[in-house]
Amino acid sequence: MVRVPVNPPTHGWSLTVPPRLWRELTDHLFRDGGEHGAVILAGLADGPRGPRLLAREVLLARDGVDYTIGTAGHSALTATFVRDAVIRARNERLVYLAVHRHLGTDAVGFSRVDLASHERGYPALRQITGLPVGGIVLADAAAAGDLWLPDGGRAALAELVVPGGNLVRLRPRSARGGQAAAIHDRQARLFGDLGQETLGRMRVAIAGLGGVGSILVETLARLGVGALVLIDDETVEDTNLPRLVAADPSDVNAAKVELAIRNARRANPDIDLTVLAERIETPRAREELTRCDWIFLAADSHAARFWVNRAVNQFHIPATQIGVKVRVGADGTIGQIHAVARLLIPAGGCLWCNELIDPTELAIDMHPDRERDAARYVPGVPAPSVIALNGLVAMEAVDQFMLAGTGLHHDPDDTTWTLYLPRDRTRIPQVPRRDPACPWCSEAGQLGRGQH
Ligand SMILES: [Zn+2]
Ligand SMILES: [Zn+2]
Repeated sequence: MVRVPVNPPTHGWSLTVPPRLWRELTDHLFRDGGEHGAVILAGLADGPRGPRLLAREVLLARDGVDYTIGTAGHSALTATFVRDAVIRARNERLVYLAVHRHLGTDAVGFSRVDLASHERGYPALRQITGLPVGGIVLADAAAAGDLWLPDGGRAALAELVVPGGNLVRLRPRSARGGQAAAIHDRQARLFGDLGQETLGRMRVAIAGLGGVGSILVETLARLGVGALVLIDDETVEDTNLPRLVAADPSDVNAAKVELAIRNARRANPDIDLTVLAERIETPRAREELTRCDWIFLAADSHAARFWVNRAVNQFHIPATQIGVKVRVGADGTIGQIHAVARLLIPAGGCLWCNELIDPTELAIDMHPDRERDAARYVPGVPAPSVIALNGLVAMEAVDQFMLAGTGLHHDPDDTTWTLYLPRDRTRIPQVPRRDPACPWCSEAGQLGRGQH
């Protein structure tokens, strides 16, 4: 197995391939030393650093049937296979990308034969689909792409992203060098200079700035994450003070985003902040969620779960949902404490198919504020909430994000969720279910559709 290089996010066109589709693609292309081909059909979206292609489906070309040796002695996709794929791309409003593989490890580029075939084929194909089309070439730990745009332009693919247990970024040539700022010396000794730069270039959303979100803001800003999107419409109440980092009584009645801004800036004066003092289901907040590298979901409404789950699967943004629940009996007896961090990987089994979005709760959350309270069957009784329990899973989530971002997880395929039962001193890994017909995380649903 090749050690995957750490490449900081870069500007330009990118292609994101969910791990499940990446496995399907690379098992086919890399299964032996021979030449094999495939097509990726991809959605399209805007990203923080440029346009993003979102792999939605992989079409594997059968050797000798769909992928054959032509008269010039070079293997190529057959005309029939290309035609069928292009018609699907046109009908489903998707980007057509032909993929093949070259030998090599951390550098790759198109051959003269490849480029000549692009020049022959792609001007016509982009006319048919009216969307970008292109070719992608992979080596063991590198990727390059040649995109032909509907406006007549042409662009190189800057990076290919696989958002799995490690957040892999492949480029035509691996990044080198870099020098972390002196204040980050001690952590760059863990992440490497390129790992530290990776965190500095990431844009991370935090939805919910209460007990869990407050710890996330403090920690992510101090780690050196370059840009945060802060979403919360609530104000600080006096009963929140024991759980909000660096809050004091003068913060009562101030917006939670104000406290988050103050803490983030104090940790890193250069941090880039996008602030939304509004509910996550507003169009602007929903939109911002789709322009991030990672989302932390620390709000417990079902509407928040719904919109984050959509960003994960329709826009391929990895996320972590974090929550603490203390069960209290009708007579006040304290039951089990559940503290969870759920890693949400695009196409990997989602909040919807794990029945963690309750349609009734969702419907109530969609009401305007006043009606929402009236619609609740049981009037809200404040639930127990404690800073140390929030910290347990907030830190679990940040550690996972940080090790994924810098490529340090030993097992990149381990994307299990974590459930703590602190009263039993137990930590339980949970494998999420995946419904192959899920309306969000499967090819039958919205997977990778982006902005249509
Ligand atoms: Zn080639
Ligand atoms: Zn699902």
